[in-house]
Amino acid sequence: MQTVKVNASTPYEVVIGAGVSAKIGDYLIELGCKGKVMIVTDSHVAPLYAEGVADELVYRGFEPSIYTFDAGEESKTLKVYGEILSFLAEEGFSRSDTVLALGGGVTGDMAGFAAATYMRGVTFINMPTTLLAAIDSSVGGKTAVDLPQGKNLVGAFYQPSLVLFDTDFIKTLPYDEIRNGLGEGVKYAVLEGGRIFEILSEGLTSETLEEFICLCVDAKRRIVEADEKEGGTRKLLNLGHTVAHAVETLTEFVVPHGVAVAYGVRVMARLANQRGELSEEEFYKIEEILLTNDLGLELNPIEELIPYFTADKKRAGDTLTLVTIAGIGDCRLTEIAIEDAGAYFMV
Ligand code: ADP
Ligand code: ZN
Repeated sequence: MQTVKVNASTPYEVVIGAGVSAKIGDYLIELGCKGKVMIVTDSHVAPLYAEGVADELVYRGFEPSIYTFDAGEESKTLKVYGEILSFLAEEGFSRSDTVLALGGGVTGDMAGFAAATYMRGVTFINMPTTLLAAIDSSVGGKTAVDLPQGKNLVGAFYQPSLVLFDTDFIKTLPYDEIRNGLGEGVKYAVLEGGRIFEILSEGLTSETLEEFICLCVDAKRRIVEADEKEGGTRKLLNLGHTVAHAVETLTEFVVPHGVAVAYGVRVMARLANQRGELSEEEFYKIEEILLTNDLGLELNPIEELIPYFTADKKRAGDTLTLVTIAGIGDCRLTEIAIEDAGAYFMV
């Protein structure tokens, strides 16, 4: 078991290890929680883990309730969010009670937003159950739901009081979901270099899983602590994401997020190499790590993606902040005018 302490506006711990979910009651007592706990979970995760967590809470004197929604991004709506709030009210939750997310990124985002807004904010505990949520979305305090007009358009920055990741949860995770997490993992590997890169180059195993998650969480912690609300350096976490968002839009989200990020990293690595900013040797190391992790996706002609880069124009203005790769462990923010995107990408 390992712990990473995040010094956000409200500090909290991320606890990672095999079997840690069995201690959830003890952790909540340590945090000073008492009374009611709403476990928000989805229809795949509920039958696997919700009763176990609820039993631990009862054993420690809490009063848990379980709210289960249909698994999938389609549920990350104002409607389901509203139903969670109504359920909290019906069950008589007060400001001193707790919301606990048990699931992947969809669950964490939506339960986190419910916790942020119910009675102007109640204690939020996040228990991620996917690799992607463990290494990425569970740290950083972003919560949200989607609108028909786009993803994550309604939300808040709201820090959890605790993130608890039981590495045993990975055992039931389907292969496609592991691969999706590895896509975001490759992003950390290229951002950080060093041991994270080494672990993924060798292929993640049950022996390296805990260390890998800790290193990714710690990398995100450092970046987020420096820039909690995404003014500057936090944008480094967007490595591969401009291209990823284009791929997701182009394929109407058939390509899942982490896989699209790996694609984006591949595009940025190739571009940096072609522009003479990334050495041949490091470029091939990045190609290798993608192949090892079953993420060596065939690239579309870049011309097909460029029009989608401008889609963010309304929000971002006339410039695009790209995360460019100068080396493994050496990524930089590069601003270009949106009108120059074509020329920049087609070297
Ligand atoms: P993410 O955004 O982290 O990829 P989602 O919330 O979209 O996560 O979850 C991805 C899918 O994996 C969902 O169908 C979810 O129900 C399922 N799932 C999440 N955790 C587990 C687990 N530990 N075992 C089996 N299935 C899981
Ligand atoms: Zn991402």
